Amino acid sequence: ADPPMAEAAGRIIVRLTEAGHEAYWVGGCIRDELLGRPVHDMDITTSARPESVMSLFPRCVPTGLQHGTVTVLEAGFPFEVTTYRTESGYADHRRPENVVFVKDVREDLRRRDFTINAICMGLDGALIDPFGGAEDLRRHLIRCVGTAEERFDEDALRMLRCVRFASTLDFRVAKNTWRGLLRRRDGLAHIAVERVYAELARIVEGPRPLRGLGMLARSGLLARGKAPFPWTGERLAAAAAGLSGIGELESALLRWALLLHALGTSAGEAERLLRAWTFPGSTRRGVAQVLRVREAWTAAAEAGPEEGPTDFRRRFLAAVLAFGADAAEGWLTLLAAFPEGGPGAGLVSSARQWLREMPVRGLADLAVTGGDLASALDQRPGPWLGQLLQKLLLAAASGDVPNDRTVLIMKAKRMNHHEH
Ligand code: ATP
Ligand code: MG
Repeated sequence: ADPPMAEAAGRIIVRLTEAGHEAYWVGGCIRDELLGRPVHDMDITTSARPESVMSLFPRCVPTGLQHGTVTVLEAGFPFEVTTYRTESGYADHRRPENVVFVKDVREDLRRRDFTINAICMGLDGALIDPFGGAEDLRRHLIRCVGTAEERFDEDALRMLRCVRFASTLDFRVAKNTWRGLLRRRDGLAHIAVERVYAELARIVEGPRPLRGLGMLARSGLLARGKAPFPWTGERLAAAAAGLSGIGELESALLRWALLLHALGTSAGEAERLLRAWTFPGSTRRGVAQVLRVREAWTAAAEAGPEEGPTDFRRRFLAAVLAFGADAAEGWLTLLAAFPEGGPGAGLVSSARQWLREMPVRGLADLAVTGGDLASALDQRPGPWLGQLLQKLLLAAASGDVPNDRTVLIMKAKRMNHHEH
């Protein structure tokens, strides 16, 4: 772990101990440390009540007092310090109704989801690991603390956490845990859409998305959520071939575009789904634009070679102008990620070059403005002007005419003449 962070957490634990309390590093930070993975944050569990924690550390924020959590700031790092507690009465299959502070750290570990997340470590480096979490880490196993069905019944989000950990860590799921998940999968209907898709995002954007997606397909879990996920496990499984390159894509946005593409989603449908899944507008729009370039590309490829390569190039450049160079580059990256190449994949390197060599990429680059044209042609601005600009833009972008003010105005006059 990051030494300054570990030292800062250590000082908090020392302070709590000196005040007569118990305190340990717990959860994800121990799991990741034992796995030799980077640790981004450290949580602390303590016998001290929240009031005592707050009085010992003036620089703190009462993040979730009713659950016993105080965020302590030390050396600029925020640490969640949580009082040992048990939970009960999960009437909504997500949040416990009763939180009871307890004396024994083992009781606190028992409420945690998986054995690998239910380990804590003291200042002397000794582990407290009542459920065999360290052994499960060695065996690469996700296993519920206690009875899987009960634990998933209490909090249905744990099922997605299970898939997420199995996927990102490349672990197996213990038999009983998987069986419990299959039996309790309908519970996902109780979980807020944001929570579900935040977990899905960690799967799709994580290191082994195909593993997680495969487990989601086999479990049928997502189809049980509140938000539409309009594909059955079979459909997801069938799409897997088209998704084999997804883990190599660096861009999260392109991973979503590839997923939706492989599932046969139109641009408009993708945008609606991403909205329903509570994704930010930038992701929604970015994915939709990539899929619009795909639609234009496929239409151009299907138009057939008899129309000639020049024609394909013009259609592609028109799509770049309409949907943006970023979206076009994104689509070309996706094409390269397909196993046997997607539609027209042979054209990818040509298209890359066309894109690179494009002299103008939008109206802002064009050497004339609408105002220039209106006065040069001595006409009132109107819808004709936008259409004319688009034609000039495509002509300049394809290199048919140089991007030069005088030449463009001459060309505009000629075009205008032909139309009247
Ligand atoms: P990461 O931060 O990488 O997602 P993490 O294990 O730290 O992994 P957090 O959500 O930060 O996950 O939770 C911290 C700890 O709290 C977990 O390690 C686990 O012990 C416990 N925990 C978190 N969510 C749940 C849950 N839904 N049910 C039971 N225990 C949970
Ligand atoms: Mg964490």
